[in-house]
Amino acid sequence: MSGTLYLVATPIGNLGDISVRAEQTLATVDFIAAEDTRVTLKLLGHLGLKKPLVSYYEHNRRESGEKILSRILAGEHCALVTDAGTPAISDPGEDLVCLCAASGVKVIAIPGPCAAIAALSLSGLIKGRFTFEGFLSTARKRRFEHLSELKNEKRAMVFYEAPHKLLRTLHDMLEVFGNRRISISRELTKIYEETLRFTFAEAIVHFNERSPKGEFVLVIEGAMDNPEDAFGIDDAVSIAEQYIAGKMSVKDAAKKASEETGIAKNAIYNQLIASQRTR
Ligand code: SAM
Repeated sequence: MSGTLYLVATPIGNLGDISVRAEQTLATVDFIAAEDTRVTLKLLGHLGLKKPLVSYYEHNRRESGEKILSRILAGEHCALVTDAGTPAISDPGEDLVCLCAASGVKVIAIPGPCAAIAALSLSGLIKGRFTFEGFLSTARKRRFEHLSELKNEKRAMVFYEAPHKLLRTLHDMLEVFGNRRISISRELTKIYEETLRFTFAEAIVHFNERSPKGEFVLVIEGAMDNPEDAFGIDDAVSIAEQYIAGKMSVKDAAKKASEETGIAKNAIYNQLIASQRTR
């Protein structure tokens, strides 16, 4: 009789979040398939467990997946863990689940931490429905295709993002979605955990002043029923430019356009200054 594949959720920062059931499962399986065996060894050390580990990650998932499957089919029980959070959510675990399910292997979830769910629950933007979007592609064309597909999405959207790409992503989202509300959760369950609630324009100003550090989840407000009513940064800048043409100072024009559009004064001001420099 074949064994079982257990999908074991592990902490996303705070080791106290490991569940009793996750610990028991790790203790009783025959072997653990881990995304990064060094990370999992640390967790096992914390739990006082020793277990045979095999590596299962993005670049060996085909051959390693086949080997894991044949061991399970031969009767062994396997726990799949990733570096953090719930396996198969934006990591190669999904392929192993498909492989095992297609071979009739029993797959059991041991639920627990998931960065997307924690960030969603903190966001205050869900209004009952959401979509999970994972990471945006690094290729410009694919990123814009992905964002454009979501332009009229009414549900809240959840994205994962790396710190060095955050500002670029915020700019791209502002360009495609217009100025919307965003909840940005950083370093969840860790010492420097914070959740910041902004508009895109405000978030850009914030992260221009403090360079983004740590791991991020972005929750974006869904499209409004009448998206044509929403102002974008370009609208705000052109309103401000009209005031400047009427001899108002850049600072006052940014303030006035901000009051009219709801877009952050600093974002309008910075864009006005940047466009004056390039003239
Ligand atoms: N399977 C994981 C889960 O259940 O959350 C996600 C894996 S994905 C490869 C890693 C991404 O999750 C990070 O780049 C970051 O966007 C997000 N993430 C993971 N831990 C986080 C944390 N403590 N705080 C905020 N975001 C986190």
